[in-house]
Amino acid sequence: MKTTITLIKADIGSIGGHVRPSKEVLSAIKDFVGKSQWIIDYRVFSIGDDIGILMTHTQGKDSPEVHKIAWDAFSFATMIAKEQGLYGAGQDMLKDAFSGNVKGMGPSVAEMEIEERPNEPFIAFAADKCDAGAFNLPLYLAFADPMHCAGLLLSSKLSQGFKFTVMDVTYTEGDRVIQLNSPEELYELAALIRDNDRFVIEGIYSRATGEQAVAVGTTRLHNIAGKYTGKDDPPMLVRTQSQFPATGEVLSPFKICHYVAGFMRGSHNGPLTPVRVGQGASYFDGPPIVCAQGFCVHNGKLTDSVDMFDSDPVWDSVRAKSADKALALREQGFSGPAMLGMNELEYTGVMEILNKLEPKFKVREDFAREERQMEKLLKKEQEVEKLLHR
Ligand code: MG
Repeated sequence: MKTTITLIKADIGSIGGHVRPSKEVLSAIKDFVGKSQWIIDYRVFSIGDDIGILMTHTQGKDSPEVHKIAWDAFSFATMIAKEQGLYGAGQDMLKDAFSGNVKGMGPSVAEMEIEERPNEPFIAFAADKCDAGAFNLPLYLAFADPMHCAGLLLSSKLSQGFKFTVMDVTYTEGDRVIQLNSPEELYELAALIRDNDRFVIEGIYSRATGEQAVAVGTTRLHNIAGKYTGKDDPPMLVRTQSQFPATGEVLSPFKICHYVAGFMRGSHNGPLTPVRVGQGASYFDGPPIVCAQGFCVHNGKLTDSVDMFDSDPVWDSVRAKSADKALALREQGFSGPAMLGMNELEYTGVMEILNKLEPKFKVREDFAREERQMEKLLKKEQEVEKLLHR
């Protein structure tokens, strides 16, 4: 059976700042989505200040009907968020009217149409306080590095490698993408995706079967809004087992807690911390967090979810390490790698400070020339003074 899995995510307001949405807003979305005739099954959850809507259906990718369910659910719940006075109510709803697809309107979407295997395990990831490229490194390691994916050595299907689709998210005229194959083009892939701000892994495909393994949301909010309105907070779907990496191989790189952009005001780096579903984020409006829910889907019906980062005590140790990494980088405040580079800050208020200072900058030679001119003027004035008093 062909099933489409759609995960759409947005921040439409939260309690106490950017911490977590209210129960009333979450249940309004659940009720709204549950009434839809277009979907087979669904789940609604939160991570930090974001709400995720996971839906299964047979309408295919980019279905206006399915995208409209999410848009209308978020719009309806935004009214409740406003009534409750939640902070940033409707924050990610960047357009006034739905135009057929949530892409380019604020909410981020990860979506794939699959031919269901007899058993079809997948993981729905959702990250908060993150750039769209936050998943680049974990995906590279899970699909191309035998240090994390033992299947690359142990499974003949996996050892045929994977095809990566990478998007240049700074290009706003259309979807500018490139496809690279592992293992032959691993260095080229690494050269691109080291830049999380610009090159984002959008999809990964098995070279053994051609099937899609991964779909990542690539929305960059500042490309839509033209200013900083919130971080991109990407959703991701990953199919696991058999011709794809095992669930544990996909999760393994998240023990690193690599530094990504998105901490405080989306303008600082912080460690990507694996957390439980529904976790809030309060330390320095962060750190960047990610949750992962495991499901099996059969004839479009979802099983109960497994909260992956709450299913093993090892993640508690990982969280403790991540807290140390966060605290260490926060020691240096705004300095150097703690804060993002100027290319990423161009959508923030710091540009106003820099623009104000710009005319005050002078080349040192100009200072010297000005001083010499002042001296000359002073001399002339003194001569005129002398002549007048003769
Ligand atoms: Mg968020």
